[in-house]
Amino acid sequence: MALFTKEDALDYHRLGRPGKLEVVPTKAMDTQRDLSMAYSPGVAEAVLEVADDALQAFELTAKSNLVAVLTNGTAILGLGNRGPLAAKPVMEGKAVLFKKFADIDAFDIEVNCTDPEKIIEVAAAISPTFGAINLEDIKAPECFVIEERLKAMLDIPVFHDDQHGTAIISAAALLNACELTNRDFANLRVVVNGAGAAAVATANLYINMGIQRENILMLDSRGVLYKGRSGMNEYKEQFAVDTDARTLEDAMVGADLFLGVSVADVLTQDMVKSMADNPIIFALANPDPEITPAAAFAARDDVIMATGRSDYPNQVNNVLGFPFLFRGALDTYATGINEEMKIAAVKALASLAHEPVPDDMLDAYNLDSLEFSREYLIPKPLDARVLLHVAPAVAQAAMDSGVARRTIDIDEYREELEG
Ligand code: NAP
Ligand code: MG
Repeated sequence: MALFTKEDALDYHRLGRPGKLEVVPTKAMDTQRDLSMAYSPGVAEAVLEVADDALQAFELTAKSNLVAVLTNGTAILGLGNRGPLAAKPVMEGKAVLFKKFADIDAFDIEVNCTDPEKIIEVAAAISPTFGAINLEDIKAPECFVIEERLKAMLDIPVFHDDQHGTAIISAAALLNACELTNRDFANLRVVVNGAGAAAVATANLYINMGIQRENILMLDSRGVLYKGRSGMNEYKEQFAVDTDARTLEDAMVGADLFLGVSVADVLTQDMVKSMADNPIIFALANPDPEITPAAAFAARDDVIMATGRSDYPNQVNNVLGFPFLFRGALDTYATGINEEMKIAAVKALASLAHEPVPDDMLDAYNLDSLEFSREYLIPKPLDARVLLHVAPAVAQAAMDSGVARRTIDIDEYREELEG
């Protein structure tokens, strides 16, 4: 049964103050004195400090807790290109998730242009405002070049969540699936169905974590990416391998992992049957997966499965990642979110799934018990412990990898987050 009707969803957005968030002052503004410190003339003291030392902006303004959620609306959820204004409810929603899960303030920024050069220009021009930029719902392949260029240009993190969110959460699930099936990450044979934003970033992270590039077969809507095939952009080209496989059916034979970041219902039961023992199937297409868990388990009972949906076990949901990655990055005034920080998040998520689940979590999900297993590879999205595990791991990695501009004591930091 649906949890809500169309009218419920619209009322949720419409009633009271329209939209989902507002700006709240953090300092007293009750007296003449407050007023003259918050604005002229007192504010001039802060201006001079920041003009003299840019890092003072992190201490004297909201920059250190402020993220831009920036889009041009070219790939909104699964709804395609609906333009920047129609993206605003989604970006406001993302801002609310930042606030709820990690107490990060976010401004949604909808940019009316599709030219990557212009988006880069706009994002760079407004970057002084923010401690980090979350690119969102920008279509592939433009999203790759926009992120790459901005990362190189700016001294704050730039992170396209549609790419790296999936990569991080699914990698955590994969580490644990490998542990449960005694597999060596480095020898996994992988099929990545899809060659868009999520697919390319996820394959790249898996490679950085030890999977062999030549053991990955990637497919787009036209089939396997093989050396010499026509119609591949430079990002697909990087995954073209020497292989005789042309179709998904060819590619799946003997595969350890199917990673679906494509479209519904493309994986058949026969393909599942042709996989290795204890096959790992991450069917992440939203809202409907590449194969339903029911169909996969009907094909064989040794499947390990994750989807993007909350009504099945092992939901790969980006909210397990971005709030805490940004939290750790902001709190160390990091200049970027690098591979070390992403992998620290992966490992923190994977290890949290081994910990006993508190009763309030079981209540929230109406469960009697939940233990590390094939049905519980990664923490649940509403688990408050994720913040305490992931943000400190990311902050530590930022310091260790040299992108932090502020050193913090990790034990004290964890206590602060808990308080
Ligand atoms: P995207 O950039 O549009 O990429 C989609 C890719 O799928 C394209 O490369 C496309 O091929 C390919 N494709 C389409 N039909 C196909 C088919 N029949 N067989 C093989 N490949 C096919 O989209 P995205 O942002 O990467 O997202 C892809 C999917 O993953 C969506 O369903 C999205 O909801 C889901 N997703 C889930 C999560 C999660 O956490 N659960 C996170 C991110 C994304 P062409 O290149 O030839 O067009
Ligand atoms: Mg998105």
